[in-house]
Amino acid sequence: MTTVSTPGPEDSPLPRFVVQKHWARTLHYDFRLEMEGRLVSWAVPKGPSRDPRIRRLAVRMPDHPLDYAVFEGTIPRGEYGAGTVMIWDTGTYEPLRPAGVSPEQWLDRGFLKFILSGTKLHGLWEMVRYRAGELSKESWLWVKLRDRFSRPGYDPESEPLSALSGKTVVEIRGEGPPPVVAFHERPLEVWSRPCAEDPFEESEEPGSLGTRLLH
Ligand code: MN
Repeated sequence: MTTVSTPGPEDSPLPRFVVQKHWARTLHYDFRLEMEGRLVSWAVPKGPSRDPRIRRLAVRMPDHPLDYAVFEGTIPRGEYGAGTVMIWDTGTYEPLRPAGVSPEQWLDRGFLKFILSGTKLHGLWEMVRYRAGELSKESWLWVKLRDRFSRPGYDPESEPLSALSGKTVVEIRGEGPPPVVAFHERPLEVWSRPCAEDPFEESEEPGSLGTRLLH
């Protein structure tokens, strides 16, 4: 009988996660998990809550390329994702996936459990899909599970600085469109999608996806 060693966290680096705060037409947060070479993405109107009693709506968005995980700056008007993007939190996550279940199957099942190791977000979290449908109509709930990192009454607005640069949004915006903007012009399929696919850019029903926080 042969022993097959399963690669664990020691052997392979853990996948990344990023929470980007996005001052688009409507302020929202984008939560992205690295999975199979791309960033599986959700738009979270009210941002993450470390309060286990609070469930946050997370609307599934098109996958983004991996290198978007390090993007912080301003995307010009008229381009996909226009507005200022801050890397609000980033780090790695440990997927708590049942044995024998591939990342793809895990996502398809609509029930994700993972441990975040970021700058602001830590510990156990859960995501549950409660409405299936076309991508941007797929609704999930994102909730913190009770552990030593949960904080009743937590407000993500209480931590306003970038986890990447320590900058405020005003400082990031003040830099103007950064050189990395060229990166958005690459002929990647996801970038060529019309803005209308992002309900936070071109919302037809104002307020239909949670509270409009700004503007
Ligand atoms: Mn966004």
